[in-house]
Amino acid sequence: GNMIPSGKRFESTASDFQTPDAPVEKYEYQAEVSRLMDLIVNSLYSNKEVFLRELISNASDALDKLRFLSVTEPQLLEGAAELDIRIQTDQENGIITLTDSGIGMTHQELVDSLGTIAHSGTAKFLKALKDSKDSGSDSNLIGQFGVGFYSAFLVADKVVVTTKSPKSDKQYVWEGEANSSSYIIREETDPEKFIPRGTSIKLHLKRDEKGFAHPERIERLVKNYSQFVSFPIYTWQEKG
Ligand code: ADP
Ligand code: MG
Repeated sequence: GNMIPSGKRFESTASDFQTPDAPVEKYEYQAEVSRLMDLIVNSLYSNKEVFLRELISNASDALDKLRFLSVTEPQLLEGAAELDIRIQTDQENGIITLTDSGIGMTHQELVDSLGTIAHSGTAKFLKALKDSKDSGSDSNLIGQFGVGFYSAFLVADKVVVTTKSPKSDKQYVWEGEANSSSYIIREETDPEKFIPRGTSIKLHLKRDEKGFAHPERIERLVKNYSQFVSFPIYTWQEKG
């Protein structure tokens, strides 16, 4: 049908998921995204903590969008009146989960946003990289331009995004892995996992980056970034 973008194919069995009635849709990243992901994953960039700044900034943008729309459509706030950001650390398993109660993404918005270069800063990054003759300069460029959502792959080898837009009655899960040219999307069908609204980003940290799941480290970074964010940011620790 016309809703199926190019490069997509359905997979019926090759899935880890327990929910048999939700088909797993597999998508190829736009070529530029694949290139960007390669750079990020293999980067020797030392300032990897910028991932948190990027993800907090996206959460804040999503909350801003919701707050703006709710002025004329107050029903958008139904089910979750709080506008906030929650960051959970699970040190034992090396997982950080960043959750916002913002505008979320529909299926189409997921495909448009997390698989293509929609982001102008990222496009500038790739242009600057092309123009640069010094092959070692990508590290500086990452910090200079920011690489948005994909910066999650500076520290994570697997990223799972769960999202629910108030414009859709369906909740979706996006899952991408470092060193893969494709990602998957499936509909969440387990009612126990339903969220009222917003987006949750789960980072499975790389072996060498598990230190980011130390609560004190996250709290310190959050303190730095939160001064630019007009929504409360709560951090807490998963108890094993
Ligand atoms: P930018 O924030 O500059 O647009 P990003 O790569 O950081 O670029 O994010 C790409 C897009 O993905 C965003 O524009 C937004 O549409 C979507 N997105 C990312 N994170 C979230 C989130 N937490 N909630 C809703 N949409 C998001
Ligand atoms: Mg962003």
